[in-house]
Amino acid sequence: MNFTISNTFTNELPADVNLENSRRQVFNACFSYVTPKQTAKPSLIHVSEEFSNEIGLTKEELSSEEFLAVFSGNKVLENTHPYAMCYGGYQFGNWAGQLGDGRAINLFEIDHNNKHWSLQLKGAGETPYSRRADGLAVLRSSIREHLCSEAMYHLGVPTTRSLSLSLTGDRVLRDVMYNGNAAYEKGAVVCRVAPSFIRFGNFEIFASRQDHETLKQLTDYTISHFYPEIISTGKQKYIDFLIEVRNRTIEMIVHWQRVGFVHGVMNTDNMSILGLTIDYGPYGWLEGFDYEWTPNTTDAQHRRYRFGNQGYIGMWNLYKLANALYPLVEDVDALQTILDAYESLYVTQYDLMMKKKLGLPIENDYSSLIADLEKTLQLAETDYTIFFRKLASVSKNDTSSSAFITVSDAFYALDELQKSSKEQWITWFDRYINILQKVNQSDQERAQYMNTVNPKYVLRNYMAQLAIDEADKGSYELIDELYQLLKFPYDEQPQQEKWFAKRPEWARHKIGCSMLSCSS
Ligand code: AMP
Ligand code: MG
Repeated sequence: MNFTISNTFTNELPADVNLENSRRQVFNACFSYVTPKQTAKPSLIHVSEEFSNEIGLTKEELSSEEFLAVFSGNKVLENTHPYAMCYGGYQFGNWAGQLGDGRAINLFEIDHNNKHWSLQLKGAGETPYSRRADGLAVLRSSIREHLCSEAMYHLGVPTTRSLSLSLTGDRVLRDVMYNGNAAYEKGAVVCRVAPSFIRFGNFEIFASRQDHETLKQLTDYTISHFYPEIISTGKQKYIDFLIEVRNRTIEMIVHWQRVGFVHGVMNTDNMSILGLTIDYGPYGWLEGFDYEWTPNTTDAQHRRYRFGNQGYIGMWNLYKLANALYPLVEDVDALQTILDAYESLYVTQYDLMMKKKLGLPIENDYSSLIADLEKTLQLAETDYTIFFRKLASVSKNDTSSSAFITVSDAFYALDELQKSSKEQWITWFDRYINILQKVNQSDQERAQYMNTVNPKYVLRNYMAQLAIDEADKGSYELIDELYQLLKFPYDEQPQQEKWFAKRPEWARHKIGCSMLSCSS
């Protein structure tokens, strides 16, 4: 493998002088050098070929021994120096102090085709930031991360990428539901990739320790490498930085709402400073449209990170980032102005996104139609993905009753719904069709457009679980089948119609499908 190595993070930022891999508080440093753990018997399960092209890897290289050795952690490439980052974070609303890469080890950074990438192993062993845990990852969560990051990319959602998924040959002890039933599972490593893995928490840790010098170094580094559009200087530079991070964060969350993705753990250590979806843990995909839904059992009581709260949490997290940047700006009003604008920017973008989902002209106001739709969608369990995909087939010449039939596949209990909320649907379709009739656009044009906004295929929770169950038995075909399917989420794929279906009943309450914990 012939990478163009370009290690900016370690070259430009202060390193931990302690080279021991012992668990500790690390001060005045952005990272600690650490070597990945040797694995017992690594084997490659899956590679994202599409992404491997992006970083210039050939087919031969992907099947080489070196690829497996490097991306399972057994070999460190010459002239590279793996490291774990130091960061802190607010977890479920509370300051948690130093967290850091407890089980992520950054290998190196590369340049390819004018793009810069940082490659990182997740589950490659302990680091100074591992606290009480083992630094490892299990197969089920690694499959979920690998498949979902690539699926999100193809959906057009800003995200970290996943290059490869390997088994380590080691066993990892986990208590999946935190109920005293620990068991051994297969260990795995994912190589994930992003321009940078810096999080809100990287800034917060230095602010919390009043280490303003390192805070400034890290912020200057981040702006110069990843926000080259910021050309202001002095305090204005940091103000512009917060504006840009705010905008990217809003954009990312609006995409999540569009495709029905619930992150599950929007702690500030899981918020990318580049506005990328990062840390695929107990995430889930909406099946029935429900603002209250969260897949994360650890959050079941307060539902802080529920579907309908993600936009608000984005703002909450930006408040914490603004606090962390305050020492560089020392101007409360300037920061407050940026945060005050969040809500209206979010609402505007959300509204625009919903108009696109509905195939309506973006220059008109349809907020009352949209609000009504959201209310109606929640009257009875209605599949978010199927509803919007089927909606594209509604014609402006339809009656509201025939439009209702067109989308009726989306309803989980059609018979009951006929008795309870059909009326409301008929009323809503009356309004919608009425609007369509006034718009100067053919049914076909509208449908074509809607199908670029509303995916047909998403990684439903049970689909990932089926791939996990098969992989546990040693069969990996389904991982590749889903990977291939989700490369074209907006396309009709007639042979794959079976994945365009409501969640099967068996998956409704199954662990891994409807309930996920942070144990991974
Ligand atoms: P998460 O909830 O996955 O975002 O993780 C929160 C913190 O716990 C981060 O600092 C992780 O690096 C760390 N962490 C999670 N799982 C492990 C593990 N198995 N070993 C070591 N650290 C971990
Ligand atoms: Mg995390």
